[in-house]
Amino acid sequence: MRNVSQIIDGKRKIIKKPELLAPAGNLEKLKIAIIYGADAVFVGGKEFSLRSQASNFTLEDIKEAVEFASQYGAHIHVTCNIILHQDNLEGIQDYLQALDAIGVTAIIVADPYIMKIAKDMQLSLEVHVSTQLSTLNLKAIEFYKSMGMDRVVLGREVTYDDLKTIMEYAPVDVEYFIHGAMCIHYSGRCMLSNYLSRRDANRGGCSQSCRWYYDLYQNGKLMNQEGDMPFSMSSKDMSLIDHIGELIELGVNSFKIEGRMKSLHYIATVVSTYRKLIDAYCENPDQFIQDGSYRQELMKAANRALCHGFFYDHPSNEEQLFNLRDEHPTQEFVMRILEYDKQNKQAKIEQRNYFKVGDHIEIFSPNHPNLFFTVQKLYNKDKELIEVANHPMEILYIDVDLPLEVNDMGRKVSK
Ligand code: SF4
Repeated sequence: MRNVSQIIDGKRKIIKKPELLAPAGNLEKLKIAIIYGADAVFVGGKEFSLRSQASNFTLEDIKEAVEFASQYGAHIHVTCNIILHQDNLEGIQDYLQALDAIGVTAIIVADPYIMKIAKDMQLSLEVHVSTQLSTLNLKAIEFYKSMGMDRVVLGREVTYDDLKTIMEYAPVDVEYFIHGAMCIHYSGRCMLSNYLSRRDANRGGCSQSCRWYYDLYQNGKLMNQEGDMPFSMSSKDMSLIDHIGELIELGVNSFKIEGRMKSLHYIATVVSTYRKLIDAYCENPDQFIQDGSYRQELMKAANRALCHGFFYDHPSNEEQLFNLRDEHPTQEFVMRILEYDKQNKQAKIEQRNYFKVGDHIEIFSPNHPNLFFTVQKLYNKDKELIEVANHPMEILYIDVDLPLEVNDMGRKVSK
């Protein structure tokens, strides 16, 4: 077992805190991820990246991301993890050179050619092996070490027992998924989308065909009974919120949250929940109590039911959604705080979803515990009283006597 703790003033503390690595599909989400506590954010560029739909970071955007992150001591990782076809080869060197010049901390790669040239070019940035390569054992990690790789992002299929062995001897940094969607194939080895919608999952175009509804046949006979929902192969999302302490004790270097397509509210909620949990555990691991409040907080933004993925062993039917759709966060994101005027006890907000006078709001923040209030006085941008907020992104004002901060967010709750 790696030594991750030390006795300080008579109390054991974690001195080897894992990096909390968050996803971002655009600059707004990236900034919120960092403000809410991410140590590093991974983004996709316009080229050579999966999630082509979500990846709208130009080199200019990446430069802004690096500058913003550096103000918080955070890092930017850029995915360059497509499986290259012949017609993808052009321009890769120039692109890597540009990322290096911008000051990106790491690139995440899957194709051996990119691994090789990134090292041959003697760039300053780190090269991380993408989860697309399904690295599940120590020998494979040793191989990537021999290729000069700096970190391996493990496949989501690594169990806790295997992770223990890996962490005992891993010769490079190890990144492990703690939260996000699961594939029903090994990540990066799925052709369902290619066959069914001609969209290449390994070049960023997955159409999530596993989650479509299917009729089920056996020997040509339709198995669906009348009234049955159609069949789907969708897994529940994975969350290791109940096992963060065990993972910290193993010395895992980086905890990865998946979801570059997810909403701002989702990113803020998930990142801040894990941030608070990791910090609380590291401060006093022997007295830490996992009381369920962290899981409760996560569920306010969860889009799907959660499971432990492969953590214990192979998932059972309990980890599948089959035909059950469960995609409703328990609370609705309605506002982001832009300013708070302490003297007049008034918040300037950006509306995100419908709410009205009389609604109950829960404010959450990277810096303070959750706060609650009821909307009593709501004003439009001209400071005229209104009853409903029904225009997305509209600038509004609310009278509220709470110590709110810029970038706090509000959710509508039932009383
Ligand atoms: S179709 Fe499903 S299993 Fe295949 S890559 Fe897409 S999400 Fe993963």
